[in-house]
Amino acid sequence: MQHQPGILYVVATPIGNLADMVPRAVTVLQTVSVIACEDTRHSARLLQHFAIETPCVAYHDHSDEKKVDALLARLQAGEAVALISDAGTPLVSDPGFRLVRRAREQGVKVVPVPGACAFVAALSAAGLPSDRFIFEGFLPAKSGARLKQLQALAGESRTLIFYEAPHRVLECLQDMITAFGAEREVVLARELSKAFETIHGAAVGELAHWVASDSNQQRGELVLLVRGAPPQAEGLDDDAVRTMEVLLAELPLKQAAALGAKLTGLRKNELYQWALARQSDDA
Ligand code: SAM
Repeated sequence: MQHQPGILYVVATPIGNLADMVPRAVTVLQTVSVIACEDTRHSARLLQHFAIETPCVAYHDHSDEKKVDALLARLQAGEAVALISDAGTPLVSDPGFRLVRRAREQGVKVVPVPGACAFVAALSAAGLPSDRFIFEGFLPAKSGARLKQLQALAGESRTLIFYEAPHRVLECLQDMITAFGAEREVVLARELSKAFETIHGAAVGELAHWVASDSNQQRGELVLLVRGAPPQAEGLDDDAVRTMEVLLAELPLKQAAALGAKLTGLRKNELYQWALARQSDDA
């Protein structure tokens, strides 16, 4: 009989509240041969809490090739291996990509064990459109690069989600004001599932002020979610958008579209549909 390779389990762990550990994760971690951890010392507390005595090895995406080879060899020999990170879902702004990629290339079965993930939890409670969103992970730490990246995202109509370090949250909000304007809605989701969980949304100008005046909001772990830009109809360039914005501020929608069509040369119906979509997005 041909030898079967083992299974690599990618196991999510809680993002703060140990009660969020799913029972299947406990069973898998108790029964695999070895657990590849982002940080063995950090994970020791979690494993001890759930009476998991499985041996651990350290793994991160910069681990030398030999370490990855050793894990793959164990998988090829038929052993089951679990991958965990310090918190939440591995590979989401966390190590694991290289191991998962190579395991799949070698025909090893990779099985996810779903559970907590900070940005999904934040999105589920933020009250921002959640039908389409983009997760950008961490922004660059330096302001110049961060601002440039935010400016490149200014026209993005999907909800934008970022991870940010607490000591950079104020600078980041200031850069968001520069890139998106002070009126753009931003939600700060902090310390999710923990004692000081806070979810607060406001125009980013106001939010920056609120965070600046309460140093507690600059502590712990946090996610920033930004409402997307109003959608632009295809063919509606910046000049046409500006014209329509001025007209819509003064006139009812139908009249604005009619006058806008005369001023821009675009079709009345196209402008009407654009304004309608914008209005329903603002509602
Ligand atoms: N793999 C994790 C996940 O599934 O969300 C993310 C790991 S990343 C290194 C850590 C970042 O996730 C933190 O800096 C913060 O932005 C976010 N995060 C993690 N736990 C959080 C929590 N309890 N509340 C808010 N944000 C959290």
